[in-house]
Amino acid sequence: MPFHPLRIAALHRDTADAVVLTFAVPDDLRDAYRFVPGQYLTLRATIDGQDVRRAYSLCSAPDEPGPTVGIKRVEGGLFSTWASQALRVGDVVSVMTPEGRFGVPPERGVSRCYAAFVAGSGITPVLSLIKTLLAAEPDSRFFLFYGNRSTASIMFRAEIEDLKDRYLSRLSVFHVLSREEQDVAVLNGYLDAGKVRALAPMLPPVDHAFVCGPRPMIENLPAVLGALGVSHVHVECFELADGAAARRVVVPADAAPAFLVSAIHEGSRFDIPVATGEAVIDAAIRAGRNLPFSCKGGMCCTCRAKVTEGEVEMAVNYSLEPWEVAAGYILTCQARPLTPRVVVDFDQV
Ligand SMILES: Cc1cc2nc3c(=O)[nH]c(=O)nc-3n(C[C@H](O)[C@H](O)[C@H](O)COP(=O)(O)OP(=O)(O)OC[C@H]3O[C@@H](n4cnc5c(N)ncnc54)[C@H](O)[C@@H]3O)c2cc1C
Repeated sequence: MPFHPLRIAALHRDTADAVVLTFAVPDDLRDAYRFVPGQYLTLRATIDGQDVRRAYSLCSAPDEPGPTVGIKRVEGGLFSTWASQALRVGDVVSVMTPEGRFGVPPERGVSRCYAAFVAGSGITPVLSLIKTLLAAEPDSRFFLFYGNRSTASIMFRAEIEDLKDRYLSRLSVFHVLSREEQDVAVLNGYLDAGKVRALAPMLPPVDHAFVCGPRPMIENLPAVLGALGVSHVHVECFELADGAAARRVVVPADAAPAFLVSAIHEGSRFDIPVATGEAVIDAAIRAGRNLPFSCKGGMCCTCRAKVTEGEVEMAVNYSLEPWEVAAGYILTCQARPLTPRVVVDFDQV
């Protein structure tokens, strides 16, 4: 599996609860860690005896020193608390190679209008997109609507100000604050559906919109933006569905298998016995099989595979596009078999 030990080359505390880590990539791994803006890294650590993996979007642009991620501590969060308290420059972290398809590749010669609606740590992939798209497309514009509690909790505030100065006529930034009164009333409160409708009149026609942040934004804003005439809405969800962890079926190691899933991964094929209600990736972990996964909440697509025989059903899906679902792609962290035999191919990218 494409995890490699990477040394933390730089670390800075961006706000009271956010830490920004830049990794050093050895020359022989440079190609493996090349990324496009919008992608994420999966970090892995053993915390309190548990093997924990979490996805973190790349906030650096591909041509900057990096790769760099920004981690915001969530209340009671296992990995984010550990990362913000325990990590130091020089520490080595197990990091998976970049994954994900959130974003738009820059295109020379186009003149586009982009708009992003993000909250909290949802700024990270969008920061990489702003830097890359505005540098590569001199005629494109970017509108950023960024929700936070207060000025003090805005991640990358100084860098965003610098970008605004560099792209004076092409980058417009609106901070929407929920716990700090601003002079412009429409910028007070939450960046929810009503707020987006209220802010929309200040926008020219938008070619691509990006939505990134907690689940309510992901669930509500795409429809609002679609109704406002935005044809391409790209979403990245950072937060598990309510009760998603509780819904995972924990199966005793000796449970009788009800289904047999054949997995094809990195050229080899092996069988995984799956119990009733169990997700394919959980059964694989139980069987000691090393398959790719990260968030286990249907939000990233690290565990994506294609069903080539049999049927499965997914509990939730926040990352596969409709065409991928129609083509038979699944998130194996969400997929429960419906037929006694299923074949899933991780090698069909
Ligand atoms: C594709 C992808 C990219 C991501 N990129 C980033 C990033 O760039 N920066 C970043 O800080 N995070 C990012 N995340 C979220 C990150 O992966 C973790 O989920 C987050 O750091 C919480 O992990 P934890 O172990 O600290 O919390 P957990 O121990 O997993 O959860 C503890 C509690 O916090 C709640 N919770 C979990 N995540 C969030 C959240 N995002 N907001 C509010 N409450 C939450 C849970 O419901 C739970 O109640 C990304 C997630 C995905 C899927």
